[in-house]
Amino acid sequence: MKSLKNLNFKAVTPGKPHPLLQLPSSSSYDANRLLVKLKFMSGTYILQSNRASFNQNSVDPTCPLCNEAPETLSHFILNCSLTSEIRKPIIADIRFEIERLMPNTWDSFNTEEKVHTIIDCSGLRHRSKLTKTEILRLQSVEFHCRRLLFTLHTERNRHLQIINVIKNKATSAVHSYKSNISRKVSTVSQTLH
Ligand SMILES: [Zn+2]
Repeated sequence: MKSLKNLNFKAVTPGKPHPLLQLPSSSSYDANRLLVKLKFMSGTYILQSNRASFNQNSVDPTCPLCNEAPETLSHFILNCSLTSEIRKPIIADIRFEIERLMPNTWDSFNTEEKVHTIIDCSGLRHRSKLTKTEILRLQSVEFHCRRLLFTLHTERNRHLQIINVIKNKATSAVHSYKSNISRKVSTVSQTLH
């Protein structure tokens, strides 16, 4: 159940979808963002630190994007320096919408609470019955949380593809260098015989 620690179970009622899944999607693009967000909500989005914990010593948990720290959930969502430029404006939007819904909340949150809220903002309610305006504001918070996770996910994939292309080119360069050397060695040894 550790993987579900960011899911707000208080908001789950038997026989009813999670409240965030009841919010209407504003576009088909937003619906696609939901698919990525569901992976975070269900704890099935795999980062380098998860891969390392599954594979013990054979996988390095370091973030493959910035190489500065283990790629944990909080690093990926809040701290990775390589994605900071695209993250900043979206975090500002999330903060703005949360402050409209519940003033003085976002700045009082610690890292864990921020990560939890971005993954499942349904806990942002001071009473169980929200007014229409509050529902709309919660919807705006959720919109920007989906936007953040989807944008980070896309950016991570883009960087990983670039890194893979560079790695493949380096591997094939080393391979052709090695075969050139062995060809030269065999020519030299044939000449000596
Ligand atoms: Zn990083």
